[in-house]
Amino acid sequence: MPTLLIKNASFIVSCDAHDTIYRDTDILIENGEIREIGKDLRSEGETLDGRGKIVYPGLINTHHHLYQTFSRNNPAVQNMELFDWLINLYEVWKHMDEDVVYYAALVGLADLVRHGATTVFDHHYVFNENSERFMDALFAAAKRIGVRLHASRGSMSRSKKDGGLPPDSVVQSTEKILQDSEAAVAQFHDPSRFSYRQVVLAPCSPFSVTPDLMRESARLARKLGVRLHTHLAETYDESDYVMEKENMRPLAYMETLEWTGEDVWYAHGIHLNDEELQVLSRTKTGVAHCPVSNMKLASGICRVKEMLELDIPVGLAVDGSSSNDGSNLLAEIRQAYLLHRLQSSERAPSAYEVLKIATVGGARILGRDDIGAISPGMAADLFLIDTNTLDYVGTDLDPGALPGAVGISGHTAYTIVGGNIIARAGELVTIDEERLTVEARDVWQRYMQRAGVMA
Ligand SMILES: [Zn+2]
Repeated sequence: MPTLLIKNASFIVSCDAHDTIYRDTDILIENGEIREIGKDLRSEGETLDGRGKIVYPGLINTHHHLYQTFSRNNPAVQNMELFDWLINLYEVWKHMDEDVVYYAALVGLADLVRHGATTVFDHHYVFNENSERFMDALFAAAKRIGVRLHASRGSMSRSKKDGGLPPDSVVQSTEKILQDSEAAVAQFHDPSRFSYRQVVLAPCSPFSVTPDLMRESARLARKLGVRLHTHLAETYDESDYVMEKENMRPLAYMETLEWTGEDVWYAHGIHLNDEELQVLSRTKTGVAHCPVSNMKLASGICRVKEMLELDIPVGLAVDGSSSNDGSNLLAEIRQAYLLHRLQSSERAPSAYEVLKIATVGGARILGRDDIGAISPGMAADLFLIDTNTLDYVGTDLDPGALPGAVGISGHTAYTIVGGNIIARAGELVTIDEERLTVEARDVWQRYMQRAGVMA
């Protein structure tokens, strides 16, 4: 594999254990990994001029539904909260096919990569009668762009007729789900260092999954050595639903189903009381914080600062594009920073803390110690921004806080995964974007026609 030398980077914000920020320093990358950080390094391979650039660790998105890239900005659901929003959108999503999964993933991943993401978790949980090759489509899209993908063999097993929210056509039997989950892990999961493909078992939520499937998924994941993920404590409606069905609060319910531990993380984790935060802290169960989605669906504000103080693993995420309308994780850093400032200074993480959530925090959530920071021996996953523009004049004093406090408008100068430049000046390197736009729009239009959203 070729070498890459980043020469004279104005700043390197490492997010390492010592929060080192280097000035006017080089990074030597070999065989996909960071070999050396220092001055006057030499290489025979490609060299990037780092002058005027800030280098950050690649961002890690810990919760997405890439398929929703093809159902964003839908006027029918713009002003709804979660349950009504879902009930309406299931009627669109049930028409999904393999082309929709593939092209929606390409479009969503492109947005992520152009804005600094280098590892993405996709919580795919809609499996209908066309779904045999959905996981293949997701991993093929990630490979084509060059990004690391953790994807879930998610599931739903409790439809309307059993008191759940989704229609019958997107739920499956527990037996089929567990069989497929085991097959997906055998086919796609690579647990090795610098892995590009991992599988997560991720039943969708307490209101679309039976208790039996939740428990059996946890047992299977532990047998196979993969991680567990679901939505939890997102809305008051969810708390009321679980209380009515199980006579317990959502986290207590999940504890009875063996769903706490270092190998588990929840999306949202908003409506948790003090005792419940202690449970997460004690068990090291993680949370993917999705501020834009939480604002859009009027769900509430996650207690991120307290979680950090309790050493609860926290990652940042854009959530699906039906509740964000985009996949810009760089912008999400600033939105997270500002959202918590709105409550009070005491309850707000610093801008740099939010950057750490989006980097090393995400790595911890995904169970990885080879990504999320810039130091020798780590994967060469980075992004660079060019500060030689009007946007950044006067911002040089605190490069660690910059993504949160100032915001990075626009795309990265370079996004690099495993030493490969996968986006340059906001353009994907491996894909003809004009052609993809035509192809993806065609697949999207046919999907909207099938779903009756467009004539
Ligand atoms: Zn979600």
